Amino acid sequence: MKYIDEFRDGALARRIAERIAADMRPERRYRFMEFCGGHTHAISRYGVAELLPDAVRMIHGPGCPVCVLPIGRIDQAIGLALERGVILATYGDAMRVPASGNLSLLRAKARGGDVRMVYSATDALALARAHPQREVVFLAIGFETTTPPTALVIRQAAKEGLANFSVLCCHVLTPSAITHILESAEVREYGTLPIDGFIGPAHVSIVIGSAPYEHFATEYRKPVVIAGFEPLDVMQAIAMLVRQVNDGRAEVENEFARVVTRDGNLAAQTVVSEVFELRPSFEWRGLGEVPYSALKIRPSFAGFDAERRFDLRYAAVADHKGCECGAILRGVKKPTDCKLFGSVCTPETPMGSCMVSSEGACAAHYSYGRFRDIEVRAA
Ligand code: SF4
Repeated sequence: MKYIDEFRDGALARRIAERIAADMRPERRYRFMEFCGGHTHAISRYGVAELLPDAVRMIHGPGCPVCVLPIGRIDQAIGLALERGVILATYGDAMRVPASGNLSLLRAKARGGDVRMVYSATDALALARAHPQREVVFLAIGFETTTPPTALVIRQAAKEGLANFSVLCCHVLTPSAITHILESAEVREYGTLPIDGFIGPAHVSIVIGSAPYEHFATEYRKPVVIAGFEPLDVMQAIAMLVRQVNDGRAEVENEFARVVTRDGNLAAQTVVSEVFELRPSFEWRGLGEVPYSALKIRPSFAGFDAERRFDLRYAAVADHKGCECGAILRGVKKPTDCKLFGSVCTPETPMGSCMVSSEGACAAHYSYGRFRDIEVRAA
């Protein structure tokens, strides 16, 4: 297949669904976690869940970069904009994440903070060049996909000697989060969250390759199928996972072979390790403190580290009382389990981070799936 619409072919999707149904073992249930928000979005948008047999349940994982950003980190960025007078640059979705005191970066902007939306890390660097008299801080979020561009701009700023540019680094790591989920009480002890396998991320795997997932197959006996973001990619990945489960295999398979290799993008990995090192611990929204799950800027680039430059201290902040984002990000609850879903909390008025980005489970469910659920509950 060559063109995007071929990966959205409804007739082919139904054929794959029939094949999955034919492969089902009687009385067997299959629970797969799609780690990545891009897959959550595709599953909701294209009605993938509706095509699947009832015995297959998809569990939404924590792979939406905006959703896992803890309130304390947004508070730091808001403080820089409102109290330290910096130009705070970040991606659009991050501006709407609810923070302390009923604020968000967007609301901080309305209060006079100089908050700018950028499309790329390069745009943030351009702001620093254009405003040499002002401090410019880039709030850098995301998984392994967005980390290399951040590393490149830090390296470029060092080369140019840009003294007014720094990065508030909130980049997080996919394999550490999967390990954390597999080690969680819900999965290991209580059995409340049985996971039979994972759909591995698409874009992240282009950078890190498929090798980092082999650990989950060998150590935890969990099949992983790396998949693209189109609906047929997801359907095919589910079919491959079902076959692995039926055969008693736990392997890393690569459905997204048109882009992902075993070793990934070595040039991107090199620049990332030149600029960043592991943090001993980092707070994720919903998962809490996760060891070695995020990156910080190496001492050799300390001048570009906003945490050092502005002597920032991190303080954890609890989520809104009624918000179930934490449980949803751990895969323990569904968006419709939250009492605020669709009433108080909508994409226009998000109360929690899962309703902000289109990759968030609540936003995806609100936009594409909630009416079906409401009908089912009413029946
Ligand atoms: S619906 Fe809103 S308040 Fe409820 S879990 Fe989702 S984001 Fe949080």
